[in-house]
Amino acid sequence: MSVAIAPDRAQVERMVRSILERRGVGLLNGAPAVQAAPKVIVNISARHCHLTQDDVDVLFGAGYQLTEMKRLYQDTDFAANETVAVVGPRQRMIPGVRILGPCRKFSQVELAFTDAISLGIDVPVKLSGDIEGTPGCLLIGPKGSLVLPKGVIRAERHVHMGPRDAAYHGVQHLDRMNMRVESPCPSMLEGLLVRVHPDWKLEVHIDTDEANCCDLTHASRVELTRA
Ligand SMILES: [Zn+2]
Repeated sequence: MSVAIAPDRAQVERMVRSILERRGVGLLNGAPAVQAAPKVIVNISARHCHLTQDDVDVLFGAGYQLTEMKRLYQDTDFAANETVAVVGPRQRMIPGVRILGPCRKFSQVELAFTDAISLGIDVPVKLSGDIEGTPGCLLIGPKGSLVLPKGVIRAERHVHMGPRDAAYHGVQHLDRMNMRVESPCPSMLEGLLVRVHPDWKLEVHIDTDEANCCDLTHASRVELTRA
């Protein structure tokens, strides 16, 4: 499914650029990490995108290489200095959406429901990479823009871990776990998808809506259990 961008694209692009210039951009990402016994790290995934090198070429100029702002906790990945504007139908726009590197084989935009609603996109909850049939959007970078025909998702809540953590918790790749958060808004987040890879450290990824819902920033304790 592709997004219908109503009026003249060049016109939208000019409008968005002028807004960006006024705002100086720069949105979240690298939100606070909460540590709880035993060594469960919960990180908040603010809205972000992954891009192919081809799409980076279009948005930032041919041959452009993303530059690293900060290594992520899973240190194969980094938050780039570069950002793009994400535009939905009816020209609603979110500027300064962080790019995570390195480049991937597909481009994907990960939004919280709050973001998607503000853009006017009915976004499905998907495992990262599962983008067949998902909505698209318009991306605008400093050197160009492109219509992403698909790839806008709300990433399914998940927990990364290595084989030893999986053994400790008695779970396997693609099993489900629950996470209880003790905080001023105590909550149980259910059905976190388990993702096991030899290179991964134990880390839960939830988005900004989920983190705000359970007041993760003020959590005193987080506990993972098998679903
Ligand atoms: Zn993740």
